[in-house]
Amino acid sequence: MSQHAPGSVEMLKRLVAFDTTSRNSNLDLIKYIQGYLDDFGVASKLVPNQEGTKANLYASIGPDVPGGIVLSGHTDVVPVDGQPWSTDPWDLTEKPDGNLYGRGTCDMKGFIAGALAHVPAFQRAKLKVPMHFAFSYDEEVGCLGAFSLAEKLVGDVPRPQAVIVGEPTMMQVVNTQNAGGSLIMTFTGVEAHSSMTHLGVNAIHFAGDFLHWLNELQEELAQRKRTDIDTVPGHTTINAGIVTGGTAGNILARECVLTWGYRTLPGDDAWEVQRRAEQYVAELLLPKMRAKHPAANITLRRRSWVPGLKPDENDEASQLALQWTGGNRTYAVPYGTEAGIFRSHGIPTVICGPGDISQAHQPNEFVARSQMDACDAFMGKMIRWAEK
Ligand SMILES: [Zn+2]
Repeated sequence: MSQHAPGSVEMLKRLVAFDTTSRNSNLDLIKYIQGYLDDFGVASKLVPNQEGTKANLYASIGPDVPGGIVLSGHTDVVPVDGQPWSTDPWDLTEKPDGNLYGRGTCDMKGFIAGALAHVPAFQRAKLKVPMHFAFSYDEEVGCLGAFSLAEKLVGDVPRPQAVIVGEPTMMQVVNTQNAGGSLIMTFTGVEAHSSMTHLGVNAIHFAGDFLHWLNELQEELAQRKRTDIDTVPGHTTINAGIVTGGTAGNILARECVLTWGYRTLPGDDAWEVQRRAEQYVAELLLPKMRAKHPAANITLRRRSWVPGLKPDENDEASQLALQWTGGNRTYAVPYGTEAGIFRSHGIPTVICGPGDISQAHQPNEFVARSQMDACDAFMGKMIRWAEK
């Protein structure tokens, strides 16, 4: 071993220093991790994106046998643009309140740092089952990297027993989460002078019809509140996040693009919202638009999709993680993570990591040092389990 092993917090400082905002390449960070693992004699594999600008990384320590644990995390972070930070977001700063500030500290370089800091301990331990690392890109823009990562990993290593996704849960064990999808809709109208509305089709007005329909659907879905699953608000939610279109106040808009998404509870029909949207467009909205002008069009394209987690499918992972956190119950969360992607390969998966999700995506994001300590303790217990 040629290098001194850093502690989790020191490792976090190193990881935070890489600006891995999703729009940027994550390769500098990935190369750093690869070099670090190399120094400890751990080989790693990269799964690049199509353009070769980003990569997932996976690596295994311990025997090449089934039954190991996958420690999963995403390397990208959300932008700091326009956020009022009081410290440099790319320089981990500890304050007297015991919190460690920096972009990605809680979402979710804290867990990756904890895992990497334990590489020497994994190496020293007499592991009976392997520890796998799975670090992805582009989670924050729709879990884009994890699909190829999970597929490669699952195809390459003997079947792991459980996956731990280290998103911030205050080191509680989460075994239930919503599925989510996002869609991009393009409304194409026909330009005309605003005094001549009979000559054109205003794409914005039809996008408005669609938004109105979405609102009504949202209200209908809110009536179907679930009480068997412990999440707030307990029903499918819909959100239109971006709308762009039009060129001038006196021109019928030729184009309007709407980015919207939805989240459904585990066990609900995850395709209902998209199916009904497609049906509404095909049967009502597009015919109405084309009646004005045959050149009008609406296209609907899926931007992202993240499967959910059902509690009963993940008992094996829950039991292990509870043993390592010392917790006595599991939790449900409404947000999406990469957990559902691993679960869709049939591996029991839970979410458990340091930090509070309410800190994620915020200015002055932090993870408490005590949470990093709790993550260290988790890793220590996991190692002792793996030695038995
Ligand atoms: Zn995250």
